[in-house]
Amino acid sequence: MSQAPSAAAPTVAWDADPALPVWDGLPVLDGTVSADACVVGLGGSGLAAVEELVDRGLSVIGIDAGRVAAGAAGRNGGILSAGGALLRAGAAPLSPDLRHDLYRACLAELDRLAEQLGREVIKPVGTLRLAGLPGEPADDTEAADRTCELADVEAEAAVLRSWGVAIEAYDDELGCGFYNPDTAGTNPVHRAYGLALRLATRARLFEHTAATAVHAGGVETQRGRIRARTVIVAVDGKLPQLVPQLASVARTVRLQMLATAPIAPRRLPCPTSFRNGYEWAQQDEAGRLFVGGGRDRFLEQEFTTDDEPTAPVQAWIATVAARLAAQPVTVTHRWAASVSYTEDLRAPVVLLEEGVAACGGYSGSGNLVGPVAARAAVALAVDGTTPPAYFRSSL
Ligand SMILES: Cc1cc2nc3c(=O)[nH]c(=O)nc-3n(C[C@H](O)[C@H](O)[C@H](O)COP(=O)(O)OP(=O)(O)OC[C@H]3O[C@@H](n4cnc5c(N)ncnc54)[C@H](O)[C@@H]3O)c2cc1C
Repeated sequence: MSQAPSAAAPTVAWDADPALPVWDGLPVLDGTVSADACVVGLGGSGLAAVEELVDRGLSVIGIDAGRVAAGAAGRNGGILSAGGALLRAGAAPLSPDLRHDLYRACLAELDRLAEQLGREVIKPVGTLRLAGLPGEPADDTEAADRTCELADVEAEAAVLRSWGVAIEAYDDELGCGFYNPDTAGTNPVHRAYGLALRLATRARLFEHTAATAVHAGGVETQRGRIRARTVIVAVDGKLPQLVPQLASVARTVRLQMLATAPIAPRRLPCPTSFRNGYEWAQQDEAGRLFVGGGRDRFLEQEFTTDDEPTAPVQAWIATVAARLAAQPVTVTHRWAASVSYTEDLRAPVVLLEEGVAACGGYSGSGNLVGPVAARAAVALAVDGTTPPAYFRSSL
């Protein structure tokens, strides 16, 4: 049902939202500067670390190799789900109590975001988890996969209900699964800009300033040096490159998305994940679909540091978009970004040297887990507090 992959430019449709605040850019850092703390990476996680540090009364410098939100923070599906991949029943290396603790920590992060940015940015619309691909199964294999996944979906719903979450069963033409009213959706660029604008008066933030090395006492950049007693590295997708000690723990993965021209009538009531979270989608007020996924179908090719979209994955996502739309779709934007995955889905929050902590490896669902990890990294680097056990704190 989808059209052949079009020549749509590899740009990010979230950037075209007229509701975005004006972004004038941040300066580039030149020369040697000093602060109490330096944060490397200004995505959702790094910005949470900056906030946590300035709230402690420390002077803070934050740097990003590119523009704020030019990494995964501004290129993701915008689903603010609590606990991410670690919550899915079939993929849970954590005890039930730890999963509950992580869920609550993510919801606290979501409340904080909603308070800071408002309901126009952090939309409290809930999320759907559906088994299988959108619509009727196309063949017996799809039908069998869906039946198998439904057992997982029901198990996750039961766990959430046991925690008091008002889970609702969902069974409609999009598929079968459940609705979680606790969770939310956002334009991720709006979220990152909103946070950076709030912090720009409290910390010194720089764009187009890549760290080339981190060590006790500071950070080296392409054009200078930052002296700081505390260093927090929050670069997720580029973690194995900047922190080689973590290369055996976290592996860089490319995730891809596209956006379509508006679809009428509306198809999605709220942000939705399909097929064990391997596909996901949102629909904006104008009716445009933002759809991503397909990594598992091209597994080896997607273990890469390259962050350009590719034809095979894009063709697959366009097929999913057309099933979701129940009509042919016109693709207007295609994009990709790097994240990092760990084998057991637990994110590392580790001390590299005295005063230097790193976090990342959110396995593709770090919109809320990332800031929780970044705050734990600050507590580890500044106070020596051991991170909660839902994170991996040793190498
Ligand atoms: C296509 C896609 C869809 C996704 N969908 C979802 C979703 O719906 N929900 C969800 O929860 N998660 C989703 N994710 C995952 C989520 O985006 C990430 O887990 C999250 O953005 C991680 O936040 P972060 O701040 O740790 O890293 P990032 O957002 O990647 O930010 C890290 C920053 O570090 C900078 N950086 C890198 N190297 C250096 C260096 N050497 N020096 C200085 N700066 C550096 C980068 O430029 C970047 O801005 C998705 C990811 C992708 C790619």
